[in-house]
Amino acid sequence: MRAEYAIIGGTGVYDPALLESPTTEIVDTPYGQAQVTLGTFQGKSVAFMPRHGTGHSIPPHKVNYRANIAALKQLGVTQVLATAAVGSLQMKYEPGSLVLIDGFLDFTKSRPTTFFESGPVVHVDMTDPYCGRLRQAVKQAAERLGIPIHDGGTYVCAEGPRFETPQEIRLYQSWGAAVVGMTSVPEVVLAKEAELCYATVCMVTNYGAGISPTPLTHEEVVEEMAKNVHRIRALFFDTIAHLDGERDCRCPHAVGSQTPLTGQAEGERRP
Ligand SMILES: [Zn+2]
Repeated sequence: MRAEYAIIGGTGVYDPALLESPTTEIVDTPYGQAQVTLGTFQGKSVAFMPRHGTGHSIPPHKVNYRANIAALKQLGVTQVLATAAVGSLQMKYEPGSLVLIDGFLDFTKSRPTTFFESGPVVHVDMTDPYCGRLRQAVKQAAERLGIPIHDGGTYVCAEGPRFETPQEIRLYQSWGAAVVGMTSVPEVVLAKEAELCYATVCMVTNYGAGISPTPLTHEEVVEEMAKNVHRIRALFFDTIAHLDGERDCRCPHAVGSQTPLTGQAEGERRP
C-alpha cells in the first residue's frame, strides 16, 4: 500500500468511517516497526498514524519517532498533518483553542533526533520547520470551516513525562513562547530530514503550571481533548481535500541540496 498524505495524532482524532476501505499495517523500518491505517478519502490516499501506538501505550520520551517518520516515507507520504496536546503559556491561548505553530524551542534530553547518525554529516535547515505552504493550507481550511485558530506561535518541547514546574513555565512565558508539549521534537526535525512537508495543529488542553489557578489533572486533559478532536479531524480532512499534491516549498529539497557536498548517491540516502 502507498499513501500520499498522513495524519499523526492520538487515536481520538482518527475515525475509521472517514477512510474508504481502511487497512491497518505494521511497517518495518531500519529503526523499528510502526503502525499505520491506510485508506482513501475523496480519491486521495491517506495514512493515519497513532503517534503513541495503540491505546496510548508509549510515553512521549519513548515514542519511536524515527520509525514513525521512516514508515511514512517508505509508504510514499509527502505531506503530514500532526496534532499535539499542549499546555498554554499565555492567557490568550485558552484551553480548548487551536494553535498552528510555526517554530519550536527544544528542551528534550534523551531522544534520537536525526536519521543521519553515521555517513554524511547533514545539517538540515530549520528556517521554516513547520512547512509554510502546508500551514497556509490549514489556515485556509480553518477559514472555510469557520474554526477559530491561532496562526503562528512557538512550541516549547519538554522532555516529560512529568509536567513542567511553575519556574519552567515562567521562563518559557517570558521568552514569548505560546505553548508547551512533549512530542513535536524530534518529529518535526525528522520530517524535514525525510523531506516531508509537515505542519502541526496544537490543541490547548490546559494552562501551564502557575498560570492556571488550579493544578491540572489527567482527567482535565482528556476532557479537553475529547471536545477538540472533531474540529481537528474536520480541519485535517478539509485541508487534504483541497491540497493538489504540488509542493512548491523547499521541503522536497531540505537535504538533497547537501548531497553534492557529500558525494552520497540519491538511493543511499535514508530513510
Ligand atoms: Zn513543504
